[in-house]
Amino acid sequence: MKTDRSDILTCLRNSEDYVSGQQLCDRLGVSRTAVWKVMKQLKEEGYRIESVPSRGYRLVESPADVYSESEIASRLHTKWAGRRLIYFDSTGSTNPDAKRFAEEGAPHGTTVVADRQTAGRGRRGRAWESPAGNSVYFTIVIRPAFVPDKASMITLVMALSVAEAIHGVTGLDTGIKWPNDIVVNGKKVVGILTEMSMTPEMNEIQFLVAGVGVNVNQESAEAFPEELRGTATSLKIESGRQIDRAALLARILEQFETDYGTFEQTLTLSALKERYESRLAGRDAAVRVLDPAGEYTGISRGITDTGELVVEKENGERVPVYAGEVSVRGLYGYI
Ligand code: ATP
Repeated sequence: MKTDRSDILTCLRNSEDYVSGQQLCDRLGVSRTAVWKVMKQLKEEGYRIESVPSRGYRLVESPADVYSESEIASRLHTKWAGRRLIYFDSTGSTNPDAKRFAEEGAPHGTTVVADRQTAGRGRRGRAWESPAGNSVYFTIVIRPAFVPDKASMITLVMALSVAEAIHGVTGLDTGIKWPNDIVVNGKKVVGILTEMSMTPEMNEIQFLVAGVGVNVNQESAEAFPEELRGTATSLKIESGRQIDRAALLARILEQFETDYGTFEQTLTLSALKERYESRLAGRDAAVRVLDPAGEYTGISRGITDTGELVVEKENGERVPVYAGEVSVRGLYGYI
């Protein structure tokens, strides 16, 4: 029933004109009764579907911000990203879920989506605040054919894809705070956490998971816990508009599929670097590098082809900063 629902909704959404009941039955191999039941259910959920006896069904309008497996699937135009979709109303954290599915053999591109996380995570064991009803949390499984030292670049590829998808959907000017956060007007709207699982011999990647959390429809700063109010914001706060989460997620997955394909050709960021750098927050400004081996300051000058931040020290020396243990801050604030 669930896949019938997704398939029927997808057919309706992709068709400008009426789709006849018979066409749906033939195309999807389902019974007339199944089609009728799905239509009834969709109407009950607030989809406006016109049915004209001799012509069939037409989707006139979807209810605002429906966030479900069918709704997301019906908007996706990808080959592999999100083709297998697993949706939870609530889960601990989508990264461990995705790892579990990957361990069980889930294919490249499998995506776990949740409306709420009870134990959302950031880098180095930090928490990602993940309330229900207003955000996008998802993790995609990637089965790469490349060696482990390329894996850290996936975070940057994802950051670029998410930043551009958000810009495309909302018009907001998104910046990337190297390597893995997306900011709007100096505040964080997205966090990304990539994790890797190695083969038992530890010389090959078994799979990667890239997890993304986006603050979408929080109404005001008060929606965030007090300690985040100075640094966190949402797309709605910044744009003044309610954003359709299913449409946004579909756009992100589509953009990621394209950008990942570009990355795969050279296994470097060379073809994506210019776009990444054009969004790099605090470029040519002073930054403080919080390196456990010793803090230092310098000017952020961009990234290398392999994703390190280039920082120019006071003596003019340019050093690559590796992600991992390091955080970067603006000299006078978060950026
Ligand atoms: P840094 O800037 O130090 O490198 P980070 O990129 O490593 O940070 P993450 O680990 O990605 O940060 O994210 C976790 C941090 O993000 C938390 O410590 C908290 O400060 C902040 N945070 C948690 N939830 C949210 C949220 N929903 N929106 C914005 N910021 C959040």
